[in-house]
Amino acid sequence: MIGGIEFGGTKCILAVANNPLEIIEKKIIPTRDPENTFWDIMSFFGKFKIDNLGIGVFGPIILDKESADFGLLVTESKKGWKGVNIVTNLSESLGVNISIDTDVNAAAIGEYYYGAGQLAKSMVYVTVGTGIGVGVLSNGKPHIGNFHLEVGHMQIPNLDQFHGICRNHGDCWEGLASGPSIEARWGQPGDKLPKSHEAWEKEAELLANGLINIISNHSPDKIILGGGVMNQKHLYPVIRSKVKKIWNGYTPLGSLAGLILEPGLGNDSGIIGSLSLISD
Ligand SMILES: [Zn+2]
Repeated sequence: MIGGIEFGGTKCILAVANNPLEIIEKKIIPTRDPENTFWDIMSFFGKFKIDNLGIGVFGPIILDKESADFGLLVTESKKGWKGVNIVTNLSESLGVNISIDTDVNAAAIGEYYYGAGQLAKSMVYVTVGTGIGVGVLSNGKPHIGNFHLEVGHMQIPNLDQFHGICRNHGDCWEGLASGPSIEARWGQPGDKLPKSHEAWEKEAELLANGLINIISNHSPDKIILGGGVMNQKHLYPVIRSKVKKIWNGYTPLGSLAGLILEPGLGNDSGIIGSLSLISD
């Protein structure tokens, strides 16, 4: 049996499984302060016999295994969690081997093995929700730089000078196009806005601008767009047509419907991907 955690800033999905697609038991807990959250995690996994635990976690976090700070959250992206080491806390209390990556790399890996990105040589997973996160895979392996990628914080055109909501950059991609930024701009959360609202045309344009940067940097075979905002399914065709228009035929992109896809695993990319980190 294996264990997996989709470790998010708002909630954690905990699962034990025979393999990534065969989950035996699953539980969702709110992400509270570190002490209480670790306690909830230990009470869940304490009931099972697992040797290996795969974790897809929010960041920024140190993922260099050679570093003395491997597993350390380095920024106050979630209040109270800066300076907390996820790996040492969980490996000591549970006595398990831990495989860990960013939440988006884990979701990308889930989609690569079992979802819409199956065996795509170059695949990018984008989640648009509370924030914007991006995992870039080459032959199924996440791109690793000096630090993990933070593609959600790239700069895109901000034609209407909206101030944006990113705490560090204001109007970066996440600051302009994440779920909270839709609410800040239009005064209502996205799920309360009708499909005909001008917010969605704007949102599609902002997402298309970011995707153009991703295409120009990575030339992926497939881009999988997930996250809460993308539950607005009507966005997909609008985004595809804007990407096609902005790219303006510079290189062949093929069918946009084959390039920009919905997640094959629905909302389970993260937990299935976290479980997949173990065999990886
Ligand atoms: Zn930012």
